[in-house]
Amino acid sequence: MKISPITATVRYMRQSKLFGKTRKEKPSDEIAKNAILLEQGGFIYKTMAGVYDYLPLGFRVLERINAIIREEMNAIGGQELFLSALQPRERWEKTGRWEKLKDIMYQFKDNSGHDVGLATTHEEALARIATHSIQSYKDLPLFVYQIQTKFRDEPRAKSGLMRGREFLMKDLYSFHTSKESLNEFYEIAGKAYERIFERCNLTSYKTEAGGGTFTNDITHEYQVLSEAGEDTIFYCEQCGCAQNKEIANIKEGDACSSCKAKIKVGKSIEVGNIFRLGTVFSETFNLLYSDEKGQKHPVWMGSYGIGPGRLLATIVEVFSDEKGIRWPSSVAPFQTHLISIPGNDLMVEKKAEEFYATLNDKNISVLFDDRKEKSPGEKFADADLIGIPLRIVISSKTLKENAIEIKKRDEEKTKNIPYDDIKTIISYVQ
Ligand SMILES: [Zn+2]
Repeated sequence: MKISPITATVRYMRQSKLFGKTRKEKPSDEIAKNAILLEQGGFIYKTMAGVYDYLPLGFRVLERINAIIREEMNAIGGQELFLSALQPRERWEKTGRWEKLKDIMYQFKDNSGHDVGLATTHEEALARIATHSIQSYKDLPLFVYQIQTKFRDEPRAKSGLMRGREFLMKDLYSFHTSKESLNEFYEIAGKAYERIFERCNLTSYKTEAGGGTFTNDITHEYQVLSEAGEDTIFYCEQCGCAQNKEIANIKEGDACSSCKAKIKVGKSIEVGNIFRLGTVFSETFNLLYSDEKGQKHPVWMGSYGIGPGRLLATIVEVFSDEKGIRWPSSVAPFQTHLISIPGNDLMVEKKAEEFYATLNDKNISVLFDDRKEKSPGEKFADADLIGIPLRIVISSKTLKENAIEIKKRDEEKTKNIPYDDIKTIISYVQ
């Protein structure tokens, strides 16, 4: 498995200076585990229902998830762009979605009296803009994507980062000369999605789902099993096939049609979806290409979504226990959490500072709990809550043996290793 780089420039940080503090009390207005743990851990700040701010710790995780997504999108030929959230009404009138989406789309008048809205998705915008890039069959296929802020006026924003009113979306759009070309890319995009979820340590099921408003074709959702999910799927653990309950023609206990294993049922979180849009949007926006003979045809389109914030929330739902979060190393905000327990021993402080510098030298990212006012118990509780994969403790006790204590977040046992044994640390964080 590839480990994506920590893209933020800062590899190390002192907890005494960290913007965003942990708190002992659970937020009283949250019911979703992801929101509770992320707010308690100082990853996010709640501005209002369904609207969250990413603080430095949370933003680091988000950026790592986005780095994984970008690598996989670029690997299948995606070109990154960034479209405006503010949209003119006319564009949405053309597809009838100004009216259709009015309950969830933020729509208002600007100061000059024009109707504008905040985009919930960008099919209209892309079909319009693509008319300037696509004329000939030679221009196709084309794949563009963005990681951009979307808005939805959700009436039930109670699931923390899982269902926001303002949220990030990675949306990929593909343009093709034919249905065959679209189908071929649909499979390629699906495989890229599987790699993204795998790199986040999540087991996803490619789940058959209804076509929504654009298409009668089967579409697919990527679902991760979790009690926090809003969907229910019937799935086969053996071969991975799955159907959303909404369209399912199988049930629990049936024999899987491809491998004969027993079908199971479970609640799940939709972490991604892929759609074959066909030619609906290109016909509406006159997005045409000329073939070899100069004849014009509508362009075939597909769209493919992943919510990076929802993905982050899903990781928290799946990888957490009663003490806090357990980040997979591929998305953790730091690789190591260095904790000094100085007591009255000035030597501990000195050796901890030295060790902090060594980790920096070796390019191992580290959050350094150098706080003087906190007890060892408080520091350990915070480390469990924040959930960095490897905890390193330096205290009078360990220094007597010229050692440091290490512990993986997902294991109970601690272990002492020699103070200068950086090789072991490196082997743990890789
Ligand atoms: Zn099966």
